[in-house]
Amino acid sequence: MVLGIEFIDIRTNERQALGIRKGFFTSPPGKRLDLTRNIVIPAFIDAHSHVINYTMKANWIDLSNVKSKRALLNMIQETLNSRNLFLGYNFDESTWSEREFPTRREVDEVSGNKPVLLLRIDGHLAVVNSGLIEKLKLPENMFKDFGNGIIVEDNVYIVIRKLLSKRKLGPSIKALQSLLKLGIAASADMGSIVEPSDKIKKKLSRCMEVYFYYCLESIERQIQEGLDKTMFKYGGIITGFKLIADGSIGAKTAYLFEPYSDDPSCRGLLLIPEEHLEELIKAANRLEAQLAIHAIGDAAIDVVLNAYRWAKPGLRHRIEHFEMPHDDHIDKLAKCHIIPSMQPNFIANWQQRGGLYEQRLGWERAKRMNPLATILAKAGLIAFGSDNMPSDPLYGIYGAMTHPIESERLRFAEAVQCYTTHAAYSIFAENKLGELREGYVASFLALESVDIHNPKEVRNARIQQLFVRGKKISCQA
Ligand SMILES: [Zn+2]
Repeated sequence: MVLGIEFIDIRTNERQALGIRKGFFTSPPGKRLDLTRNIVIPAFIDAHSHVINYTMKANWIDLSNVKSKRALLNMIQETLNSRNLFLGYNFDESTWSEREFPTRREVDEVSGNKPVLLLRIDGHLAVVNSGLIEKLKLPENMFKDFGNGIIVEDNVYIVIRKLLSKRKLGPSIKALQSLLKLGIAASADMGSIVEPSDKIKKKLSRCMEVYFYYCLESIERQIQEGLDKTMFKYGGIITGFKLIADGSIGAKTAYLFEPYSDDPSCRGLLLIPEEHLEELIKAANRLEAQLAIHAIGDAAIDVVLNAYRWAKPGLRHRIEHFEMPHDDHIDKLAKCHIIPSMQPNFIANWQQRGGLYEQRLGWERAKRMNPLATILAKAGLIAFGSDNMPSDPLYGIYGAMTHPIESERLRFAEAVQCYTTHAAYSIFAENKLGELREGYVASFLALESVDIHNPKEVRNARIQQLFVRGKKISCQA
């Protein structure tokens, strides 16, 4: 049993010591584990995650490593030799040589009559085949493009719920443990396909601190039924509400001022009219509830920040993604104390030269996205999360360190702070999580000694010791 640790604080470069008792950091004891040769940081807090979806998708097929449309079609054909259903997620056509979605007809050719659903990596678009349309009797008006089998936004989840209601799929604890092994000891769940029962929430909370955010429907129900404060607490876990104002760049549903470069007829979608948003914000004031509003495109960000002028101070409202802000948006955000909740892994995924954002928006707009250093300087904080695309925080930190505009890059210690202290603040857990300090939960990791100024070394750094609530966890994958 480890009674205490000795380490170097990465912010001050000073030697520190802490004891560990009953899951918390305490004053240092005599006997300590020497971690001064490692890089010791608090365990990560994923401020924007979909923990329930992630664990439920343990039975789905991860398509993130599929390199071309052809390879995907071959994979579907092969898999369906031994299965009756193909549920794939995380496909990203922007990384394929063909750079186009598979069509319903192409999927039909390799799947026979067996149902297939392919969920795009951003979760805002899915392609389905004729077998699935028949099985669920899906009407034509559910589709964005019926001929090609394309569904977007809410309809994606209506279809998945319909499909899952015919099968029993619970969350997998093993999948949750794979998140723990990445050094993530707490997550904010920003909504799931199926709303989890209290029993499932308690089960998950035994492994990880999970903070649940409710979807839009719940807040409307709350308004109708009147105030019910008990909804905000589950065993002491505070929750807020998640609203979605627009879609994603990949699905061309993020709401923009200027059209998409690769589709001049399209400016994306505003999913909530501004007046409705204002009503919801006023309702949140009455409930004293925190809101987390998804806004990626510059026009959506504009609408959301405008509506936030009605927000009561102190509720720590958040804006999720905040990918295309203009300078005046950043000023407004800082002035209203809205918390930017951002995903630095998106920079590594899509914001590099020749990547998806450049394809969709042109380089001039693409390179200016996610201006982390400017936002951090003006707002004083950024809550980092992964949206599980992928979940690895070190990959996200690598993204923050490799922004295409050099002056927008963060240093390692700054990025870690966004993924710990600031993320904790965004979920009202700053007195408990995200610091190596007496009285805080003893969840931390010791990375192998790498050059923290080198993003590639950071990305590949191995976690040599991992402690969650004072207990050592094996990090072997
Ligand atoms: Zn999300």
